Amino acid sequence: MTRDSGTKPAAVSAQFDAVVVGAGFSGLYMLYQLRQLGMSAKGFDAAADVGGTWYWNRYPGARCDIPTTDYAYSFDPELEKEWIWSEKYATQPEILDYLRLAADRHGLRSDIEFSTTVTSAHWDEGENRWKITTDRGNEIWCRYYIMASGCLSIPKSAEIEGAGQFAGQVYFTSQWPHEGVDFTGQRVAVIGTGSSGIQSIPLIARQASQLTVFQRTPNFSIPAHNGPAPAERLVQLSDDRDGYRHAARWSRGGIPAEPTDVLGVTASEDVRRERFEAAWDQGELFGILGVFADQGVNPDSNDIVAGMIREKIRLAVDDPETAEALCPKDHYFGTKRPCLDTGYFETYNLPHVRLVDLRKQPIIRITEEGIDTADQSFEFDAIVYATGFDAMTGALAAVDVTGRGGLSLTEKWAPGPSTYLGLMTAGFPNLFMITGPGSPSVLSNMTVSIEQHVDWVAGCLRDMRDAGFDTIEPTALAESGWDEHVRDCAAITLHPTASSWYMGANVPGKPRVFLPYIGGVNAYRQACDDVVSQGYLGFRRTGRGGDQCRDGVIRSMQPDVAMVLEIMAGLGLPPIQTLSAGDARALMAAAAATRPPGPEVAEVTDGVMPGPGGDLPYRLYRPAAADQGPHPIVVYFHGGGWVLGDLDSDDPLCRDLCARSGAVVVSVNYRHAPEARFPAAAQDAFTAVQWVDANTVSLGGIPGQVAVAGWSAGGNIATVACHLARDAGGPRIAGQLLINPVVESEMMRQSYAENGDGYILTTALMRWFWDHYADPAERGDPRAAPLLGNLADLPSACIVTADFDPLRDEGVAYARALDAAGVPVRHVRARGHTHTSLTMVGIVISGAPVRAQMAGALADFFPAPVTGAVSNSSIG
Ligand code: FAD
Ligand code: NAP
Repeated sequence: MTRDSGTKPAAVSAQFDAVVVGAGFSGLYMLYQLRQLGMSAKGFDAAADVGGTWYWNRYPGARCDIPTTDYAYSFDPELEKEWIWSEKYATQPEILDYLRLAADRHGLRSDIEFSTTVTSAHWDEGENRWKITTDRGNEIWCRYYIMASGCLSIPKSAEIEGAGQFAGQVYFTSQWPHEGVDFTGQRVAVIGTGSSGIQSIPLIARQASQLTVFQRTPNFSIPAHNGPAPAERLVQLSDDRDGYRHAARWSRGGIPAEPTDVLGVTASEDVRRERFEAAWDQGELFGILGVFADQGVNPDSNDIVAGMIREKIRLAVDDPETAEALCPKDHYFGTKRPCLDTGYFETYNLPHVRLVDLRKQPIIRITEEGIDTADQSFEFDAIVYATGFDAMTGALAAVDVTGRGGLSLTEKWAPGPSTYLGLMTAGFPNLFMITGPGSPSVLSNMTVSIEQHVDWVAGCLRDMRDAGFDTIEPTALAESGWDEHVRDCAAITLHPTASSWYMGANVPGKPRVFLPYIGGVNAYRQACDDVVSQGYLGFRRTGRGGDQCRDGVIRSMQPDVAMVLEIMAGLGLPPIQTLSAGDARALMAAAAATRPPGPEVAEVTDGVMPGPGGDLPYRLYRPAAADQGPHPIVVYFHGGGWVLGDLDSDDPLCRDLCARSGAVVVSVNYRHAPEARFPAAAQDAFTAVQWVDANTVSLGGIPGQVAVAGWSAGGNIATVACHLARDAGGPRIAGQLLINPVVESEMMRQSYAENGDGYILTTALMRWFWDHYADPAERGDPRAAPLLGNLADLPSACIVTADFDPLRDEGVAYARALDAAGVPVRHVRARGHTHTSLTMVGIVISGAPVRAQMAGALADFFPAPVTGAVSNSSIG
């Protein structure tokens, strides 16, 4: 990092409890909290004053894009009362003044060495301390090394050939001259159309005689409608400041907001338009990002919002070709940081402003006179780079940090950053990061996230002192668990599809990983609190208080599964086992009626087949095959504990399996208990397989290519049908896909102890199912408990088990037993799922990759390649 000029302070060699790098919002509050703890602390900043972001980014038009009522500290009630923001979105000078006042009110400057860059930090294992060095030759020893060095504080280099050649003036928005720049009468180029470009371009256009904007990627931007702070919010704050701040801390984005449950894909055209226009008029990022509940995860919903923004751009810009070039089309709305602007698009209607679309004519080089593109040479007096930052990891990696055993942070993070809670990283004891990768940071109102981080770190240091610990470090398990959770949260959204700085895509060579935590400020805060309440789960702490390690993973459930459980808990439904079978069926049917329908298939027909106790209804799903078949057939049995379920209950899952695998799926409604108890369901399953095998050709199947599949109790009777077919000498079954199957009745395994309560299928419900289905004396019969049967010569199997399922361990045991009996088995672990979540097609997005594996297993059962399978990535 470059150092801003300032009076050179005397070099120091000293000892402190803590060193804090950075004197922006984070560093100042961290220093304040360290003082409250009575700890000695030294701050450093390369800048000549406090302010961080707001010290450096002084370009024309620089403002916050979170309303300033919210983009502020909340820890100091007096400061809150004293400071009145002049506008809804305050300017850079005003925010800088605010931070200066905050620093002065608490006398923080005296602890900070300005114009000083921290260059290295080495952990000394003998001393259990960090040795910090600076570009001024200082050497400081400290117990705690706190990087409050900013997510957007290291400008990205220009990466354009000849960038040093230009003879005119060169400016970076991120390092703007303090005295300002007068562009009057100048020919000016601006490269970059992110937030900094979009804020500065309208103001530069007011002065320049010619302004040429070089745009690589058009960006979504909405008008800020700046003006006085919104009256309604001021009233809320003055009525109940504490309540307002509390709501912000426990909100998703760091601003109090009531999340909508309106889905873009199902809303009427009127509702869509009304909601969009309201958000447009409000002029707030979280408003436009929350028009629909599903716009961040569903491409179709996102397209609705994106399309309406493009309409607005076309209305604002006179020249249709320029308007089209300004319309973002290569990424989903919100997957790159959207912008707030004041008159940005209208600027292109001015006669002296021109847009150069670099997708059509890329920059070849910067010359002494200006810029050469593939089509043209431009001459300029000044070039402004609004080209962004090495975000989230840039400032951390810019310091030569070595931890335990000489481990270098940049080497550890070469494949992408790895952290626990975005706060610490294994191998680097007592190194804390404020808004590090893996924290909500840049996806939130950052002041709220910063205060939460600093409070957590301060609480951690206090707890360590009280308990006699002087080192803390995450365990490898806790860290990899958090990394996985961060990835899981991102994977269910559209974000990873964009080439954004969130993904590290703006810096050549940077690993492509989604850097921030997208699970929400509230979910993140809860995770951090839970870590503490569980005795610093995932951390090793050492000192005279002993050597304490509470190893474990704080979040291992898929985020959308957790969300569904939370919603269901909120509905207050009666436990199924307290209902009669009839009432339970009615409840299930009512729930099924409100679900998304599942993917389209070419044909769905209902029919009946003869069964041992009367006709059995079935539903046939035919895949959309280019060659119209014939196809392999999968005979499917629904779940529901032999008591519940029907052709409708598993309809979305059957569609999904059909569309993904390219096989015909025949879903069979077998007889249910208690009306028809054991072994009726198993007999029906076997009879159905026999009938399908005998009628393969008329069903559009390929003779000899019949497999079975089933979920839960359906998995039980699917595999029992395989046992019966083997014993009867046929029909030959190509394979068995068993999704969370019931294979024994004991209910004694560890997974019952772990998951028997709280995850929809409970021990009590399972007992209710067994009681309805089979007498205790019958439950050891292999037709009820196939795990107890002879497993030799059964068809190839794919067994799916879910982590949070009471049935998990019996599924695992069945897979092992089949393997031991010589049956080819594939075991698919549905990581972070419950018994029911895989079936929630179109709701639980994280189930899609698991269902893709199931479809792959089905395809593998059949010798010929399955035709007509649609791309798995196109199914939600
Ligand atoms: P910073 O403010 O970035 O401060 C970090 C400091 O660390 C810098 O001063 C830097 O000089 C110093 N530093 C780094 N490395 C070293 C080193 N090795 N040695 C010495 N000093 C070092 N967020 C929002 O939530 N809302 C907004 O409206 C918003 N607007 C923004 C506008 C702009 C132009 C930019 C660039 C960012 C904006 N952000 C916004 C994000 C913004 O960065 C944060 O809100 C917040 O200001 C970050 O504070 P910080 O103290 O964590 O980091
Ligand atoms: P940015 O969003 O990364 O935008 C950089 C722009 O420069 C992009 O348009 C990028 O194009 C372009 N670019 C980069 N390298 C280029 C090259 N070699 N040739 C041509 N074009 C190039 O950076 P930013 O505008 O400084 O904003 C960064 C973040 O800071 C924001 O997302 C926001 O979080 C924060 N910020 C907030 C505000 C605010 O309104 N409060 C203001 C400024 C910044 P590509 O998209 O193709 O890479």
